[in-house]
Amino acid sequence: MACEAVKVIVRCRPMNEREKALGCRAVVNWESARGRCSIHNPAGEPPKLFTFDGAYSQEHSTEQIYNDIAYPLVEGVTEGYNGTIFAYGQTGSGKSFTMQGIADPSAQRGIIPRAFEHIFESVQCAEDAKFLLRASYLEIYNEDIRDLLGADTKQKLELKEHPEKGAYVKGLSLHTVHSVGQCERLMETGWRNRAVGSTLMNKDSSRSHSIFTVNVEICTTDERGQDRLKAAKLNLVDLAGSERQSKTGATGERLREATKINLSLSALGNVISALVDGRCKHIPYRDSKLTRLLQDSLGGNTKTLMVACLSPADNNYDESLSTLRYANRAK
Ligand code: ADP
Repeated sequence: MACEAVKVIVRCRPMNEREKALGCRAVVNWESARGRCSIHNPAGEPPKLFTFDGAYSQEHSTEQIYNDIAYPLVEGVTEGYNGTIFAYGQTGSGKSFTMQGIADPSAQRGIIPRAFEHIFESVQCAEDAKFLLRASYLEIYNEDIRDLLGADTKQKLELKEHPEKGAYVKGLSLHTVHSVGQCERLMETGWRNRAVGSTLMNKDSSRSHSIFTVNVEICTTDERGQDRLKAAKLNLVDLAGSERQSKTGATGERLREATKINLSLSALGNVISALVDGRCKHIPYRDSKLTRLLQDSLGGNTKTLMVACLSPADNNYDESLSTLRYANRAK
């Protein structure tokens, strides 16, 4: 692995009722101990093998994923390093299951609630530091940015460039948070304000990218009694489904939308693969709003985790292979 700061793992969900009823066969095999998985072409071509920083089958829980790989990233945020976690995959592949999760069983609680708890625990345990935590939640839909927690969630906000701080969203609201519960309530409020479209694949499928950011300011006092301020942020990114338009049956406005979604996703893939490659002088952050916004949290001194989500079923072979290829470029 060329770049330790970027970790890529794959996760496969169990076969769902619909896939079982259709008599689908499982085409993904796992060698989790070696971070490997292979996908078998239903047409009988030789299987394709991939190696990642982790390969999690339906047997694994979000708890394991968090402890193995997300924990150090979130710990870094409490020490002053930016971090970004995102889930990639077609609609229905388990992105929300991984990020938001379910309450029962508790091992399947999502990465997001675990990260909130982790941050607040660190804050409570810190003896010689004071913390200020503020959250924001925005959506990128058709390359327009909206504040999911703003007074007017329909208003389009501008992406501006600050000479020192880099890209920022003008007018984005910041909410001071003192507890996990407050973070969760903000997340729920924002989630309800997202733009939702319906496609043939999934009526509730999200057509937008959203970024929930926890901004952490850490104030410590040095030996001479001087205050020292560090700032970091944790970006929790929920990406729109990666499926290609042909399968979703999109036309007109939906097709234009899908084209923009695919553009941002390929821009993100290009940035990550340029970072991982390490030899590229030019990192193409400017190609999409998503990558411009995440610029200070991808690369450099920051940690990034991508969870590529898959369906095990043969009828999703093409999409699963494309997800594995995308993830493979990123490592
Ligand atoms: P996405 O966010 O990618 O559209 P979801 O997270 O909504 O997909 O997952 C689709 C369905 O599959 C949901 O009903 C979810 O509960 C289920 N699911 C996804 N991943 C898993 C998993 N690892 N174990 C059990 N059920 C899962």
